[in-house]
Amino acid sequence: ARGASLTDFAEKIGVDAASLVQMLFHLGEMVTATQSVGDETLELLGEELNYKVEVVSPEDEDRELLESFDLEFGADEGDEADLVVRPPVVTVMGHVDHGKTKLLDALRGADVVAGEAGGITQHIGAYQVHTEVDGEDRRISFIDTPGHEAFTAMRARGSQSSDIAILVVAADDGVMPQTVEALNHAKAAEVPIVVAVNKVDKPEADPTKVRGQLTEYGLVPEEYGGDAMFVDVSAKAGINLDKLLEAVVLTADASLDLRANPHQDAQGLVVEAHLDRGRGPVATILVQRGTLRVGDSIVAGPAHGRVRAMLDEHGNEMAEADPGRPAMVLGLSSVPGAGQNFIVVEDDRVARQIAEKREARERAALQAKRRVRRTLEDFMAS
Ligand code: GDP
Ligand code: MG
Repeated sequence: ARGASLTDFAEKIGVDAASLVQMLFHLGEMVTATQSVGDETLELLGEELNYKVEVVSPEDEDRELLESFDLEFGADEGDEADLVVRPPVVTVMGHVDHGKTKLLDALRGADVVAGEAGGITQHIGAYQVHTEVDGEDRRISFIDTPGHEAFTAMRARGSQSSDIAILVVAADDGVMPQTVEALNHAKAAEVPIVVAVNKVDKPEADPTKVRGQLTEYGLVPEEYGGDAMFVDVSAKAGINLDKLLEAVVLTADASLDLRANPHQDAQGLVVEAHLDRGRGPVATILVQRGTLRVGDSIVAGPAHGRVRAMLDEHGNEMAEADPGRPAMVLGLSSVPGAGQNFIVVEDDRVARQIAEKREARERAALQAKRRVRRTLEDFMAS
């Protein structure tokens, strides 16, 4: 909570910032909602609200929990000799209507944009494609989440979810506010960018203008002497999709060392999860290291279970998923949150114990929030 504003704090504990301002005023402190407040003020509020304000991060707490089971998320990959090349994990970003969904669908070779207007879209949330570069079969994993909530959630949790960002810019519209926003996101995450100049099938498309505009934002095309690859594409007409995939692979090879050890218990991230009427909790996960196998005991956020089945992007069953591979996992006890991590553990008992501790912690935090809200309501009423 250090350096947080009163608004941030109010949000964290689920109350309205104005009441906190009023309460602090009553306690003799003049603070505005957007002002950042120190630990002392938070503790003062805490005392009044009968709420223990502890300045600890949930991440640290979770690290300690895992440590108590001799586990570590993001542990050392082990021997250099065991490392193998893994596919890059890619997110597609860009301004609304510039063709993110269309491009993701074109790349996966199916069209669900048409169904988006009316029907229900079945999303696996992540998928992998194969492409040939210099006669070699190369794989690329895409994170395909509506609105990129997972990406944001993962970033908020400090976990790096993607290696490369494809920035989609419609050539008939040019750089727009969300283009710049996406660009800044990727830069902040130090994720290399490949630009897909989309909609080049349109007569009014002006791909050169897009290059000029992005150059002004410091994203300089290779052909202008910079280091970003720009590819003119049409998601709709299927133009240059292979070139785009190739640019992703080349960018990965040039600027990233993407290797992981498949010979260990799997760890990774939950990309998205939902409750399926027939199949129960279904989670799309991304294996970041190790190999996930059917039958493994896993804990994902506050959910646990044994991997009953794994499905790929085509709905086919998989026996195992190697580093960089997304998969749909069946068999969890509940629905984990997007961006939460998963980790393979020794057995079901350990998985359940960790899950129960996390659940208890989440519950305690929720109860504390409720208590604060009640106290605050009483205070406002008095
Ligand atoms: P998103 O908001 O970035 O996900 O954009 P969508 O993928 O939903 O695309 C917005 C609109 O642009 C849709 O009507 C698409 O059919 C259209 N569109 C996307 N890509 C292309 C393209 O390459 N060419 C043309 N002409 N239209 C496209
Ligand atoms: Mg979309």
